[in-house]
Amino acid sequence: MIVYLNGEYLPREQARISPEDRGFLFADAIYEVVRFYRGRPYRLAEHMDRMRHGLNAIRIAADPGFYPEVARRLLVENGLAEGDAIVYAQVSRGAAPRTHSFPGSDTRPTVFAFARATDPEPPAEGGRAILVADERWGRCDIKTVMLLPNVLAAQKAREAGAMDAILTRDGVAWEGTKANLFCVCDGAVRTAPNGPRILPGITRGAALDAARRLDLTVEERPIAIEELFSADEVFFASTTLWTYSLVEIDGKKIGSGKPGKVAESLKQELWREFTR
Ligand code: PLP
Repeated sequence: MIVYLNGEYLPREQARISPEDRGFLFADAIYEVVRFYRGRPYRLAEHMDRMRHGLNAIRIAADPGFYPEVARRLLVENGLAEGDAIVYAQVSRGAAPRTHSFPGSDTRPTVFAFARATDPEPPAEGGRAILVADERWGRCDIKTVMLLPNVLAAQKAREAGAMDAILTRDGVAWEGTKANLFCVCDGAVRTAPNGPRILPGITRGAALDAARRLDLTVEERPIAIEELFSADEVFFASTTLWTYSLVEIDGKKIGSGKPGKVAESLKQELWREFTR
């Protein structure tokens, strides 16, 4: 595998970062994941805008302008230019002797990126999730690598035999550990509004656009935990899943217990947009 690190393309085994990198010491870094079909990106400009928003929010002086060319080259170098692939990129504040406040302005941000084939589709019969208390910080809209609460919740889900956790706080089911959460409730496609409690998912926005194109009623309003259990459908949305139905939450059946029609039709719309 050829990866990108600070201006160089090199074998993964040769890519080295300092133990004093602030991404390692403080999770002082922003990341993005963009999906490509035959070398064509899906909504790349939106991913770059989100990365820019994150870099500005935590005051890292870097620009995501590297993304298109680095992604193109990584896809070619790794034989992924004809398939369905993702390109991960991360920018940290760089390496400097450990102290909490920012290092001098001469510290160069670390930029790391790799490409790999997109994961195979999860099982067609839908997934099971568990509810886990959301212990993340107050700025979940910033895509930082500070993912320990997400990691612990995802592991709890795995140990419970579920595909993921739904993070809950103040009586609301906000999102998954790596996907936004939707329900079909009272005839409307509903997801939480953008704000500090969720990541503004690119797929979330695309799924809302697709729902409007399909003349479905759309609502951006928090989903109360108990509403999950009376919903017709509950599903995740993310770059790697498009939409994915949840058929059981905390051991209770959701809707008919089978993947729903709305999640499926949105997934088809997104796939069409991706591959056209
Ligand atoms: N929510 C969280 C917490 C995530 O980590 C992700 C993706 O990694 C998403 C939502 C979905 O975002 P996107 O659709 O941009 O992949």
